[in-house]
Amino acid sequence: MNTSDSKVAIVTGASRGIGSEIARRLSQDGFSVVVNYASSATEADALVAAIQAQGGQALAVKANVASAEDVRRLFNETEQYFGSVDVVVNNAGIMALATLAETDDETLDRQIDINFKGTFNTMREAARRMRDGGRVINFSSSVVAMLQPTYGVYAGTKAAVEAMTSVFAKELRGRNITVNAVAPGPTATDLFLNGKPQEVVDRLSRLAPLERLGQPQDIAATVAFLAGPDGGWINGQTLRANGGII
Ligand code: NAP
Repeated sequence: MNTSDSKVAIVTGASRGIGSEIARRLSQDGFSVVVNYASSATEADALVAAIQAQGGQALAVKANVASAEDVRRLFNETEQYFGSVDVVVNNAGIMALATLAETDDETLDRQIDINFKGTFNTMREAARRMRDGGRVINFSSSVVAMLQPTYGVYAGTKAAVEAMTSVFAKELRGRNITVNAVAPGPTATDLFLNGKPQEVVDRLSRLAPLERLGQPQDIAATVAFLAGPDGGWINGQTLRANGGII
């Protein structure tokens, strides 16, 4: 059991990419952070060690967000170690691109299980167990507005996250908890870069008027705003953090 009285943030999918930068940033902002991961234990442990070396409080917890049982255990272990939950960042997600005609059942189910059901599982647990005054920050994507071919299933799961975000914000009336979503544009992580030829990466990098890819730090700063004191009046919204791509 940790005795620190700082606020506690669970960041799902924090072993790599955007999630690891969110965990780092929230720790710098004074939160104790739970670094959730599905399989990258080495990366998660290294991140926890790096945060602790900077004087922060962190705990790595393996849990598949697609499993309601795992998510209950994630909250249990957080409460046992840190005492409470104040912020939940539903960052864990996967993307598999294919036309609808070429999408097989397994690829469809995996994206629904992790992106949609995973966000549902953590939100349901948050609704039951989060302290009043907390913040929930979900992850959508700017592809919900861009609607390019091959993004159909992925964008569909993220559109569902946006809808649940607004509904959940209303359901938490009276508890002073805000619920918002962040919708990044192309951001330099494995999820975006893997499998794309350099020419495609270069083309997508120039699409936004700011003419570069988002960096995980850009998105972490957006999450930090929503999780911190300055973001307190934003509720039920989806904030597109994409350099103006749409
Ligand atoms: P990433 O680099 O692929 O990292 C994904 C993270 O999610 C990893 O830490 C991974 O952990 C974790 N994860 C995957 N499946 C999980 C599961 N079932 N349970 C728990 N954790 C799981 O992805 P990213 O680019 O940082 O994406 C983060 C979020 O931003 C996602 O929701 C994504 O849809 C959204 N987004 C990204 C972009 C972009 O361009 N990068 C754009 C818009 C939206 P393990 O390594 O342990 O599996």
